[in-house]
Amino acid sequence: MNPLEAQHLAIELIDEHVTTDRPKWSFSWLTGVSQLGRCNYVHGYIVIQLNHRYTMLAEEKEVRDTIIHEIAHGLVGSGHGHDYVWKMKCRQLGIRPMRCASHEDKAAVELRAESANYVAECATCHKKHYAMKYTKNMRFGRVHCSPCARRYGFNDNNKLTYNRA
Ligand SMILES: [Zn+2]
Ligand SMILES: [Zn+2]
Repeated sequence: MNPLEAQHLAIELIDEHVTTDRPKWSFSWLTGVSQLGRCNYVHGYIVIQLNHRYTMLAEEKEVRDTIIHEIAHGLVGSGHGHDYVWKMKCRQLGIRPMRCASHEDKAAVELRAESANYVAECATCHKKHYAMKYTKNMRFGRVHCSPCARRYGFNDNNKLTYNRA
């Protein structure tokens, strides 16, 4: 999605859903790669943030859901995390309450792939696994594809060999 349009959408959605203390809310961009969106609470002010790279890779629907997800955090307050109060707020705002964008989210997967330094493919399910850093466990071959390891036990067919991406 075009970032400028996404920014306008965020402001529009804040205007629509925030009925009290609207002047305390604002929008800004996130540039790190680890989070797709964030609700930042700063001394009673609420900043709804979107990851710039993610926004460019995502469809409008995904961006909209992420913005509403973060607005729900802002409305219920910082103490709630992803608890039932937050979930109820999400439903009220018309989105399915999921933790920050799911693994199935295509843009989220692309974003991880794009920023990864190491990649491994599971020989059993062919799922690609991405990593930023090369860890000791990787070097000693102690990392397995977790869905496959859960299903078939830890074995050489689901052991992951990481290579430079
Ligand atoms: Zn969240
Ligand atoms: Zn696997």
